[in-house]
Amino acid sequence: MSELPSADARQQDPRDVVVVGAGIAGLSAAALLARAGLAVELLEAHHQSGGCAGTFRRGPYTFDVGATQVAGLEPGGSHARLFRHLGVPLPAATPLDPACVVHLDDGGEPVHVWRDPQRWQAERQRHFPGSEPFWRLCTALHRANWRFAAGDPVLPPRSPGDLARTLRALGPANLASALLAASTVADLLALCGCGGDRRLRRFLDLQLRLYSQEPADRTAALYGATVLAVAQEPLGLWHLQGSMQALSGQLELALQLAGGRLRLRHRLSGLRRTASGLWELTVNRGGQSPSSTLLARDVVLAIPPQALPDLLGDGLPQGYRRRLQGLADPSGALVLYGAVPRPALPAAVPNHLQFNGTSPGSLFVSVSEEGDGRAPAGQATVIASVFTPARPWFALEASAYDAAKAEALRAIQAGLERGLGLPREAWLHAELATPRGFARWTSRPFGFVGGLGQRPRNFGPFGLASRTPLRGLWLCGDAIYPGEGTAGVSLSALTASRQLLASRGLSLELEP
Ligand SMILES: Cc1cc2nc3c(=O)[nH]c(=O)nc-3n(C[C@H](O)[C@H](O)[C@H](O)COP(=O)(O)OP(=O)(O)OC[C@H]3O[C@@H](n4cnc5c(N)ncnc54)[C@H](O)[C@@H]3O)c2cc1C
Repeated sequence: MSELPSADARQQDPRDVVVVGAGIAGLSAAALLARAGLAVELLEAHHQSGGCAGTFRRGPYTFDVGATQVAGLEPGGSHARLFRHLGVPLPAATPLDPACVVHLDDGGEPVHVWRDPQRWQAERQRHFPGSEPFWRLCTALHRANWRFAAGDPVLPPRSPGDLARTLRALGPANLASALLAASTVADLLALCGCGGDRRLRRFLDLQLRLYSQEPADRTAALYGATVLAVAQEPLGLWHLQGSMQALSGQLELALQLAGGRLRLRHRLSGLRRTASGLWELTVNRGGQSPSSTLLARDVVLAIPPQALPDLLGDGLPQGYRRRLQGLADPSGALVLYGAVPRPALPAAVPNHLQFNGTSPGSLFVSVSEEGDGRAPAGQATVIASVFTPARPWFALEASAYDAAKAEALRAIQAGLERGLGLPREAWLHAELATPRGFARWTSRPFGFVGGLGQRPRNFGPFGLASRTPLRGLWLCGDAIYPGEGTAGVSLSALTASRQLLASRGLSLELEP
């Protein structure tokens, strides 16, 4: 392989920083770096930004593609801190209360995850008597985690600077909770004498899968303790007015105000380091060939790390390649995008519900609000997602794929008709995305959604670092600490941006 830049790249001045992927992670990183004074170019393969937190229109409906609720908008929350630093207002949003109504399919009342901590405590005591020791332990762990996170630690640390920052963030409570670093949420249940409460276990399995892709016996205890507290004040979950695209829209604005450039329909197809230490990026524009190349001093990849082996080829150190190729497959998702007349829904239907089930799996359901910009007056959009192993969808030939897709669509519709009491004829619109659709939309390998799955072996200190072994190449996104969700990926963008700036002798500090 030649060490010289291509003729195409030799003619250009190198870019200061190129960020690849305009999901929430890439937009946040690009805006932060541009705000810090660097010349930033953000490349996005799709015709719009947002990635898994984007939207699409179908006739009169606007559908959120993946993410449907947002954390981190409260004062001091990760989006709030970044937006304040970037000088743009947060998108208009209303707090979710209840954040979710969880149907356990056991003949009992559904569990309402209320926003008010006291109301939530009374609700869980009613549903899961005797479980308070477990919730108290979770609260203590969550408080310790939160104080630690407020110090913007770098996990896993990969340089003396990272380590110093992480050590500064540590408090005595973190040293105590470190004893549970290898434990799961199911271990916490057993520790608190609640291991036999099957109803509580089912509830936790359902809720934890939303945030960690894993049930209680595989979710890291320290991660689980925090996500179980995310719906209550002073934190909370929010419903965005208009659509999820409002979040990426504001970040695009921040990037533009800071002088950065977003280039849509620009797909990175290759990456290599030149002899002079610059990065040469091969880029396909809008499906045009031949591809062009550009040079950059630093590259931030805000795309899944599973894409690196193909992008870097032989340029990836063997040990790092083995690490990436050894990552367990994340889940794929089947998502139904539907619309119904509002009167067909139960009165006062909440924005988010979960239905426990086996075929095609447990459903997470998001219902639009009247006047929230997603459906015409008197109608509602209904989005339902279920996890599915991603790879098998790619092995199906055309007719088998069509049949499997039609069957999954019908099964999800049937689950919604049962759960919401919808008549079959209520559907005004219904379509399904499979992992193949997600792969096309987000360019994520095999349409994998979410990060790495928050098992103890992937979480925090044991996870993948934003600092790669290759100088000038940084990672952020939902495979990097603290993990998936728009609030999580914006923190990973902050870490990667801070590290990049520190490598140039610059600092990036946000108000706490
Ligand atoms: C069904 C579903 C439901 C979810 N629900 C929620 C929720 O309610 N709340 C929540 O907070 N989170 C939710 N999430 C998770 C959340 O959406 C993601 O964790 C987060 O949006 C990921 O952001 P990201 O920037 O890391 O990656 P992505 O959103 O995947 O963005 C990556 C971007 O990079 C682009 N790209 C990829 N490859 C290339 C390339 N080679 N060249 C150029 N561009 C490229 C893609 O087009 C994409 O725009 C959900 C996800 C899914 C799929």
